[in-house]
Amino acid sequence: MSGRSALIVLAHQEKTSFNYAMKDAAVEALTNMGWKVAVSDLYAMSFNPVLSRDDVIGDPKDPKAFKYGVETMAAFKEGRLAKDIVEEQKKVEAADLVIFQFPLYWFGLPALLKGWVERVFSIGFAYSLQTLYSNGPFKNKKAVLSFTTGAGESMFTDKGLNGDINVNLWPIQNGILNFCGFKVLEPQISYGVAHIPHEARTAVLEGWKKRLETIWDEKPIKFLPVQDFDLGGGFVLKKEVVEANSDSKTGLTVGQHLGKALPPDSQVKSESTRL
Ligand code: FAD
Repeated sequence: MSGRSALIVLAHQEKTSFNYAMKDAAVEALTNMGWKVAVSDLYAMSFNPVLSRDDVIGDPKDPKAFKYGVETMAAFKEGRLAKDIVEEQKKVEAADLVIFQFPLYWFGLPALLKGWVERVFSIGFAYSLQTLYSNGPFKNKKAVLSFTTGAGESMFTDKGLNGDINVNLWPIQNGILNFCGFKVLEPQISYGVAHIPHEARTAVLEGWKKRLETIWDEKPIKFLPVQDFDLGGGFVLKKEVVEANSDSKTGLTVGQHLGKALPPDSQVKSESTRL
């Protein structure tokens, strides 16, 4: 028995979908290895993705000028967050690995999943001003995006019609996962699943199961540690970090590119698999 726990957060409406099959494959592979697996099937649960005052139980601190962050921070500390948020937070807390399974919608997360992130990854629970990025509350957890696309892989390259997938991934992998401290594993991208032969889709499912057998041992994607930034001076990169990169032809990350070319594949490959 591995003794590890996973949470799969699934955002697809249809049980006959390829995303649902990817979820089933992950449940099977991880369970076979002795992992405890929880699933949040957001459409099946009719998860409410809309932030509102109802996310806080009891009287708001300031009913005249309700500030969501202030009120939910207080509610988190005082155990007054809405029941559905707390239930999801408990699942995240129990998980060593969180898998996000979704179809790419409008270059990003489906709205229902974005709403899950907005409500569940609340201030205090998933981040605070003192606990951000590599100091984030989830720094002992790993996360992986497993998503499908309508477009084929070539369309998501630096010369492709949709542009470089690394750019799409930065807001999700850095702005959500790395922001909360997760070690982010290489995304599992299933390109153009509706336009490939059935056998190719079967191979994708088998490949995912195989990958999951050793996923816990994978090296995460590189992000810069908070120590590289001057936290008392505008939260910008320390001079010595910039200087150390001065001879490099590429920037450090998709975000911290220093006005240079983006480091290739930096959001889809860890440093160990990139070369
Ligand atoms: P499905 O269409 O459900 O499945 C694909 C095929 O797999 C089907 O033939 C199905 O029968 C088959 N299948 C199911 N189970 C199995 C199994 N066990 N074994 C083998 N085959 C199986 N795409 C982009 O690239 N970029 C975008 O920005 C984008 N935005 C979108 C926005 C919206 C609002 C919508 C609706 C779509 C968008 N798309 C976009 C397309 C979307 O990403 C794809 O339609 C989606 O990723 C396909 O995944 P699916 O699970 O829905 O596939």
